[in-house]
Amino acid sequence: MALIEVNHIRHSYLPNPAKDSDFALKEVHHTFEDGGAYALLGPSGCGKTTLLNIISGLLYPSHGQLLFDGRDVTRLSTQERNIAQVFQFPVIYDTMTVYDNLAFPLRNRSVPEAEVDRKVRETLEMIDLTDWANRKARGLTADQKQKISLGRGLVRSDVNAILFDEPLTVIDPHMKWVLRSQLKQLHRRFGYTMVYVTHDQTEALTFADNVVVMYDGEIVQIGTPAELFERPRHTFVGYFIGSPGMNFMPVSVDGHTARLGEQAIELPGAPKEATGAMELGIRPEYVRLGRDGMAVSVSKVEDVGRHKVVHATLEGRDIAAILGEDDEVPAEPRIRFDPAGINIYADSWRVDLDRSGGA
Ligand code: ADP
Ligand code: MG
Repeated sequence: MALIEVNHIRHSYLPNPAKDSDFALKEVHHTFEDGGAYALLGPSGCGKTTLLNIISGLLYPSHGQLLFDGRDVTRLSTQERNIAQVFQFPVIYDTMTVYDNLAFPLRNRSVPEAEVDRKVRETLEMIDLTDWANRKARGLTADQKQKISLGRGLVRSDVNAILFDEPLTVIDPHMKWVLRSQLKQLHRRFGYTMVYVTHDQTEALTFADNVVVMYDGEIVQIGTPAELFERPRHTFVGYFIGSPGMNFMPVSVDGHTARLGEQAIELPGAPKEATGAMELGIRPEYVRLGRDGMAVSVSKVEDVGRHKVVHATLEGRDIAAILGEDDEVPAEPRIRFDPAGINIYADSWRVDLDRSGGA
């Protein structure tokens, strides 16, 4: 396995890109540590597949450099890079048996037949297709075919990295969960460098130790699930992760105080940089609904099982709050923001608060 450095990479599908918006990848600079399990998370069209294909060599970047263990591989072919890639839709040989499909990548590299057999059987076990080993792939369901694709990605142990591009899209929900847990186990057991692309936050947060969030051709934050939740660096991360996402409201900030219309909100510290027009972000989990604080009207209460999501109106804006399953909305509801959950943003990027001298 290898350490993968993505060095100031930009990519455009246009012949003569001029503006920033001509680039599918605006500028990506990041190191994937050897043996790390990463999720690339972002909405459709943000550049995830483009980045993955640049790492595997299906695509050469317009600018920048790609290094594996310090060696420049930017212009090397996919074969020379020795990477396994699993795509969204099955890539298999219909006329071969399930067994031969899995054996193919190994035989291709002249692995001794005894070793091929051992690896193939182990992989069949993992993807739960042992009983189907001698069946032609042609007759199998979409689900089973995708498991073969997954197996082909996992069967080799000599690869530099395994890349997954939304591989569980066609798999049914229960099996999805099973396969994802197995991938995680494999990572623990063999220490593969894994990059897993998804637009689904649950998938990303359960699979990876490090989640790389992409938005509009750029990486906006890399962090553990807890970091992405507590301290989103960009308003997009706050909004995209969480259910519902972070509440944002325009405020003017003066020292420790943020003003939202008639309301004055005490901040846990003064922003270190500029003051003036900013946004306050707070997750619904940190909005306290009760008998003290700012008066609100409640427009909707959604019961989502373990808790309720309450939609309150404050200064004409919708604010979501989480309420315990057994808690009631008070007759004259008021909300408070827990200072631990307050974040301040300028131009969509989080600004540090000087919490030392804070209120
Ligand atoms: P994601 O995988 O995150 O959905 P992609 O990397 O596929 O995003 O796409 C990023 C951007 O590049 C999108 O705007 C998409 O329309 C564009 N794009 C992707 N593939 C091509 C291509 N082969 N030719 C031209 N534009 C492309
Ligand atoms: Mg894609």
